[in-house]
Amino acid sequence: MKEKLTIDDFKSMLECALKNIKEREEEFSQLDAVIGDGDHGQAIVTAMTAVVETAHKGTEFKSMLNDMGFDVMLQVSGSTSTLLGAFFLGMSDAVSGTALDAEGVRKMFAGGLANVQMQTQAKPGDKTMMDALVPAVNAITGCASSDIADILKAGSDAALEGAAKTVDMKANFGRARNYGERSIGFADSGATSWSCMFQSFSETIK
Ligand SMILES: [Mg+2]
Repeated sequence: MKEKLTIDDFKSMLECALKNIKEREEEFSQLDAVIGDGDHGQAIVTAMTAVVETAHKGTEFKSMLNDMGFDVMLQVSGSTSTLLGAFFLGMSDAVSGTALDAEGVRKMFAGGLANVQMQTQAKPGDKTMMDALVPAVNAITGCASSDIADILKAGSDAALEGAAKTVDMKANFGRARNYGERSIGFADSGATSWSCMFQSFSETIK
């Protein structure tokens, strides 16, 4: 039973995400190459590396998340870092203190999604990272448990399911849209890497 998420817990979640994302860098780039420029593996590893480096200096949630969001946006260019930065900045708006209870965790993730939604018009079904992020955060906010492990597991399951669903989708957003039918049969790279992040969060807190 995990009733409180400490700042050290959260840093461990991020470190686990970076480790798992690094291990799958090549896979994310190969998926991106189907309908894009094949740089997503490198982009998400670079962005998460910057995020974790800043997180290490954090002593409480609000300023740590704010610094993580700003640093990744300033240090790394491209849409991957913009969206990841927006996620952590939105989380920052919704939290305070050095430990979060279940309701605090739900509010943190809800804040993250709300801010990402202000950065992109993409919606679930468009074959983007939103196909993992939106169901993950909906599952988190919809999980009434006071055990944070249950909440993160719900987010992980929904993110993985959402990413898997992108295999059958046709790209409907941004430049990838030009490839149309060619995108069917492959998962979206961003949905896959974001689902890896949520899976890592759950793997850390059991
Ligand atoms: Mg790319």
